[in-house]
Amino acid sequence: MGPKAAFCRSIRADPGFPQAGAFPQVGRIAVAVRGRDRGSWSGWLLRDALVDLVLGGRCAGCDRPGVSLCLDCGRALATSTPYRAWPEPVPSWLRPTTAVAEYGGVVRSMILAHKEHARYGLARPLGESLAVAIQGTLGSGRAAWLCPVPSAPSTVRQRGHDPLRRITAAAARSLRRDGYDVRTADALTAVRRPQDQAGLSAERRAANLAGAFSARSRWAERLTDQPVIVVDDVLTTGSTVAEACRALAVRGIPVLGCAVLAATRRRAPSGS
Ligand SMILES: [Zn+2]
Repeated sequence: MGPKAAFCRSIRADPGFPQAGAFPQVGRIAVAVRGRDRGSWSGWLLRDALVDLVLGGRCAGCDRPGVSLCLDCGRALATSTPYRAWPEPVPSWLRPTTAVAEYGGVVRSMILAHKEHARYGLARPLGESLAVAIQGTLGSGRAAWLCPVPSAPSTVRQRGHDPLRRITAAAARSLRRDGYDVRTADALTAVRRPQDQAGLSAERRAANLAGAFSARSRWAERLTDQPVIVVDDVLTTGSTVAEACRALAVRGIPVLGCAVLAATRRRAPSGS
C-alpha cells in the first residue's frame, strides 16, 4: 500500500463486515431528512429552523445562512457508508473500530460546532450517525454497553458540556427506539490530563496517553452481562481509543470493539 493509501481500509475490503444494506438506520435517517419521519430529528430541524429564522442562523455543516443543519448536509451525513477503520500502525489494545465517515467536510464541521460552539441541537443527528457505527461493531448482536472515552474534568468545565457523552446518550436512545438493549456506562475516568495531542506522531501519542484512563472498579462486575463498545468522536492514530480499551481490559472487562463518528485519513508525506 503506497504512501497515499487510505489511512483506514474500506469496509468493502473486509469480507466479514456487514454491508450498507444491513444498517436499517441509514435508511431511517434518510427518511428523517426527507421529513417523513415526524418522530425523528426532522421535528428538531423544524423547531431549529424557526429559531434560526428569528435569530439568523447558519448551517453547521456548510455555513450557509438558514437552518442549523440544511437538508444537503443532513443527507451527506445520513448517507455515509460505515466502514472498518484500522489506523496504521495499529496501536496495541485497539479493538476493531467502525467509523461512519472520513473526518472532513460536513461531519467535521458538525462535530466542531457541537463540541466547541455548544450547538446542542446537533447531538441528535450526530448520535443517530454514531448509532450506525455501533450497529456495525455489534454485527448481529442486539445488546451492548457503550463506554464513551472520558474527557478531563477541566476540559468539560472549560467547554461547559461533555459533547461525547451527549452524543453517546443520543445514540443509545436511537438504538433503543430500534429495539436494541443498549445502555451507556460511565465506566472510564481520566486519571491525568495528557498534553495536547496535536502534532504528535502515532508513537508519541501512544506514550502521551499511556495510563491516562482508568476503569472504575464498581463497573468491573456490571460490564460482563453484555458486550462492551468503546465510543469516541474522531479516530486519528487510534491511541486514545486504544488507551480506553486497555483501561477496561486490565480491569477484566473485555471490549468487543469501538465505534466512532469519523476517522482521519493518513496524510501523504510532504513532497510526495
Ligand atoms: Zn449545510
